[in-house]
Amino acid sequence: TPSKLLIVLTFGAAGGAFLAISDDSPFRSLTAGESGNDGGKKKKLVVLGTGWGGTTFLKNLKTSAYDVHVVSPHNYFTFTPLLPSVTNGTVEARSIVEPIRNIVRNKPYNVEFKEAECYRIDPVNKKVYCRSIQNLGHGENEFALDYDVLVIAMGARVNTFNTPGVEEHAHFLKEVDDAQKLRRSIIDCYERASLPTISDEEKKRIMHFVVVGGGPTGVEYAAELHDFASQDLASLYPSLKDYLKITLLEAGNHILPMFHKKVTDFANEKFQKDQIDVKTGSMVVKVSDKDISTKNRATGQIEAIPYGVVLWSTGIATRPVIAEFMEKIGQAGKRVMATDEWLKVQGCDDVYALGDCASIDVGDFKEFVKDIYERYPQVRKYLEKNKLKNFESLLRNAQGDSQKKIDIEALKKALSEVDSQVSFLPPTAQVASQQGKYLAACFNKAGRCEMKPEGPFRFQESGGRYPFHPFSYKHSGQFAPLGGEQAAVQFPGDWVSIGHASQGLWYTVYASKLVTWRTKVLVVSDWFRRFTFGRDSSHL
Ligand code: FAD
Repeated sequence: TPSKLLIVLTFGAAGGAFLAISDDSPFRSLTAGESGNDGGKKKKLVVLGTGWGGTTFLKNLKTSAYDVHVVSPHNYFTFTPLLPSVTNGTVEARSIVEPIRNIVRNKPYNVEFKEAECYRIDPVNKKVYCRSIQNLGHGENEFALDYDVLVIAMGARVNTFNTPGVEEHAHFLKEVDDAQKLRRSIIDCYERASLPTISDEEKKRIMHFVVVGGGPTGVEYAAELHDFASQDLASLYPSLKDYLKITLLEAGNHILPMFHKKVTDFANEKFQKDQIDVKTGSMVVKVSDKDISTKNRATGQIEAIPYGVVLWSTGIATRPVIAEFMEKIGQAGKRVMATDEWLKVQGCDDVYALGDCASIDVGDFKEFVKDIYERYPQVRKYLEKNKLKNFESLLRNAQGDSQKKIDIEALKKALSEVDSQVSFLPPTAQVASQQGKYLAACFNKAGRCEMKPEGPFRFQESGGRYPFHPFSYKHSGQFAPLGGEQAAVQFPGDWVSIGHASQGLWYTVYASKLVTWRTKVLVVSDWFRRFTFGRDSSHL
């Protein structure tokens, strides 16, 4: 996914220690009235979004200093890593969501939730404008909320690259609704293709499932679909077995570009065995109701491929409401909303942003890295001591993503100059949740810190300007489920494990990461149900 240009040195855990607050601290405004008695009135904190960033922030906020107002078009949190499993009924939709009101129940702060979408942010008058998703009568649909402090955690939208026909004809996989629609469409195809009126050629078209995008979501979906088809549907629809075709289209040179080459190779081999047709160098130029047109990047040849269902999974882009807000605060030229390293939105007071909707901007990267290296020998020592070996895969990641117009040579040069390790901050749940935790810790501590002008070591020379530690991301690895109870896992340092044991680890990690005991129990029992009875193919 796109435009996260940010590069962060990984020399500490997320969050970490905090010192004190000086006048120009990014959290200065949080301290006034921190006791909740700012002239008898608590500060009004508005949180936009209940995804990974917003929910982790709310879960970890432990101060009563605010009246909290949460706005989101979904009154629940979605555990997105299990969305591909919902598309084939391995887990049920309700097992991976948790009502936000459950999550914020019994918190020390007052909280109100509004099921609505924010369509405008006015940083001058400190207001957010919202619209209910209920389609109420005229005058009842829209409302405005004032804020003292705003936290934007609205995620991102699907990036269609303005490809004609994608919005109208392709499926997405961002929300629970998308996963449910996809599940219904798969069964639709099987039932339609079973009708006696359908010609052979039409059957072939209907039974062709196309996935666009060879990133982790596209690959996982293709693998899940293959498992569903071969393990459950093949015996229920024996006459359609030979018509089934799954194609994965990827514009770049290989699938899973952010993973180690071993993982990419294994995935390619596995998909070949499973007869999933992987077409790299294929750029989709148009989608109609029955055909998907691709351009071969090497030959320039255009081919129209008939399909039954197409999933579009090519990354994310900025939401229109954020783009409009960026214009207002002087960030019009940027591809993603920029915050400083304390997650405070640049060019705007009292507004913080986290997760997929924002990116930390450290200015000139080369200068940043050089600066760190020159000023802080202890950082250099840390980096040298903990030498990570994932530089190559980081570069592959950057190269594989056409949206990240990173000057690889400049990056290499900068890195060799400073002899340090870097990591890109990817748009993942891991990043969003660590940021949510970090920001909540800052809010919790803001009022309790004593003045300590020297601040953390990094800023001592500049007069202790920012006494809170900046956000620092700690990468704990990434999974790529590849179907057939096999997965690949890549830990920091490019330590890779592939196979059935990794799939076991995947089950353990994801069960443990589910946000409540209710969802843990539901998901684990779904897995048992699936192992015992298979997946449900009812056309609901
Ligand atoms: P989101 O989680 O997308 O939350 C955005 C929130 O904003 C939502 O509640 C939404 O309803 C709300 N919102 C939207 N519009 C508005 C509006 N106008 N006003 C108010 N609120 C609004 N990451 C991993 O680390 N590991 C994985 O295995 C993984 N698997 C994934 C699988 C899939 C299928 C997908 C789609 C993503 C996956 N990710 C994974 C990525 C991860 O889900 C995102 O990076 C993460 O959700 C980003 O968190 P966020 O809070 O920024 O945004």
